[in-house]
Amino acid sequence: MTLVKQYLKSVVEEMGGEKAFLYLAKAREVAEKKGIRVISFGVGQPDIPTFDPICDEAKKAIDEKFTGYTETPGIKPLRQAIAKYLETRYGVNVDVDEIIVTTGAKTAIFLAIASFVREGDEVIVPDPAYPAYTQIVRLFGGVPRTIPLKFDSSKGFSLDIEAIENAITERTRMIVLNNPHNPTGAVFSVKEVEKLIEIAREKRILLLVDEIYDNFVYGEEQFKSVLQLVDDWRSFVLYVNGFSKTFSMTGWRLGYLVVSKSVADAIKRLATNVYSCPPSISQRAGLRALTDPRVWDYVDEMIKLFKRRRDVMYAELKKIPGVEVWKSTGAFYMFPKIEGLLKRLGMDVEKFSMWLLEEHGVVVLPGTAFSETEFGTKFIRLSFAVDEKDIVEGIERIRKAVGLSR
Ligand code: PMP
Repeated sequence: MTLVKQYLKSVVEEMGGEKAFLYLAKAREVAEKKGIRVISFGVGQPDIPTFDPICDEAKKAIDEKFTGYTETPGIKPLRQAIAKYLETRYGVNVDVDEIIVTTGAKTAIFLAIASFVREGDEVIVPDPAYPAYTQIVRLFGGVPRTIPLKFDSSKGFSLDIEAIENAITERTRMIVLNNPHNPTGAVFSVKEVEKLIEIAREKRILLLVDEIYDNFVYGEEQFKSVLQLVDDWRSFVLYVNGFSKTFSMTGWRLGYLVVSKSVADAIKRLATNVYSCPPSISQRAGLRALTDPRVWDYVDEMIKLFKRRRDVMYAELKKIPGVEVWKSTGAFYMFPKIEGLLKRLGMDVEKFSMWLLEEHGVVVLPGTAFSETEFGTKFIRLSFAVDEKDIVEGIERIRKAVGLSR
């Protein structure tokens, strides 16, 4: 055995990746090998290219040779713009020194977990979930406690507050709240979120809040940021948001963490040691995104477009027997239960997803990408950040594949 193999830490070797990326690579392979046009409902990013003013600003930054390191928490004008965004939108007062700009929201999640989770600490993660939370908790010796959401095909997904409360032990250090929610597309009600906040405050548990989809809300369920709901956020909230989704900037790697100043200075030192600073060009682009009103017009258009696409996807999925679909109210995902379909086909969810891709050129993600419970084995995630015609054609391909056609 080579030395590198011998000494590789098992926690890294056994770490689950993100299946979305695996399917992204596989989709390219299938398209090349078979020469077919693959329709992807897989990876979670807007299909619309980054808006023009943002790209223009990045070009300008390059022309001005704004290409060196910056201060670790990000350039001050960008942090000021983030503070302004949070103030205008959520009425919260955040100081520029309480903001750490990161290389994507994912790095903000990493910093938050790395800074607070000790060996043996338990972290409550409502399930299904974006996979990074549990993986990084494990990396730092923590123990994820996944608590299934409640699901009702007419009412959707909700937090199981009672189950969360019952799962709290002396070792519980953190609760994760991702709202609007990936992969279900749920927007949790203000009441549920308030209850969760109350529990965290009362039991003295940190709340890791990931609101990266805060602009993707379609109006059926009211969204309120945790920052609007807690006055004393500085004492227990670790707030994550970013640019990837709202401004279609996934490849630019720009997100942020908001924490009380008393711990921000320490976390900044961790950030210096991990990535020095977020990309300089992306920071300029991000500043433009937040401050140019034209960009917000593009964002509004995108949200309207996604709402229409969601309605189309919902209507198309509804037509497939064995699929129980709830019309999501946020993010850009639909998370239908396909238990009946799987039974009819005699396949498990992973085999089904791979078969759809390889034989029919459609990418869906198996629930197992987000869950180790029955949400994993009985559900799939589809992104509706996809052209409307492709939504119709992709779902028609699924219908044909499972032996039904119009
Ligand atoms: N949180 C959630 C819930 C996400 O869905 C994603 C991206 N899929 C991220 C964080 C990470 O986003 P970023 O590209 O900013 O790292």
